Amino acid sequence: MKIMLDAGHGYNTPGKRSPDGMREYEFNRVVANETKAILETYKDVVIYFSHSDTKDVSLQERTDKANRLAVDCFVSIHANAYGTGWNEVSGIETYIYTSKPKIASALADKVQKNLVVATGLQDRGVKGAGFHVLRATKMTAILVECGFMTNKEDLKLLRSNLYRKTCAEAIAKGLREQYQLQLKPKVTIPTPEKKNSSLPIYKVIAGPFTEKETAENLLMKLKEDGFQASMLTEK
Ligand SMILES: [Zn+2]
Repeated sequence: MKIMLDAGHGYNTPGKRSPDGMREYEFNRVVANETKAILETYKDVVIYFSHSDTKDVSLQERTDKANRLAVDCFVSIHANAYGTGWNEVSGIETYIYTSKPKIASALADKVQKNLVVATGLQDRGVKGAGFHVLRATKMTAILVECGFMTNKEDLKLLRSNLYRKTCAEAIAKGLREQYQLQLKPKVTIPTPEKKNSSLPIYKVIAGPFTEKETAENLLMKLKEDGFQASMLTEK
């Protein structure tokens, strides 16, 4: 299946910053990268990005790309904001289009549940909205809001790489549950040399002989028969 991950906005999108200046895109893009890395460990999954680190991609371009590639699922990743200054509003929300399509609704429930469990933040629920990326995509589409940039506690999390990874794992887990994704089989490299080196080695010692000639005759016979053989002289 084809999944498109959409890191909301871009580096230069006006607004979309915490009151102290963290760009929302910085959070969104890292979560998208981490989610991609996890999803790529699953069988038969191809991951696309709608966004770009080198330019701000418009919403129309993003949904056009998703529709052109006919991806099966579109996941838009965001950090939330309430007003423009610091406040106490906190928590996790997932959005689907206002018509509440069935599969999107089921996927949103799973992703929301996993995000809430993994982050321990307040569950603000799955909501309907007419956002462009939900309206203009022809496939299952959800939009996640992983905490508020306008809340000092949430923002501390949004800034940390561990929290970003936690969000990515929760999003990937929701997708895995919805689409019953299976892990790719692990590639096992055979190591016969290693195995052999741990086996015991047996050496056969013949003799001793008092006649040098007898010893030399046996040595020659062993060598003729293809064995590695040598003679030691002891006094
Ligand atoms: Zn956003």
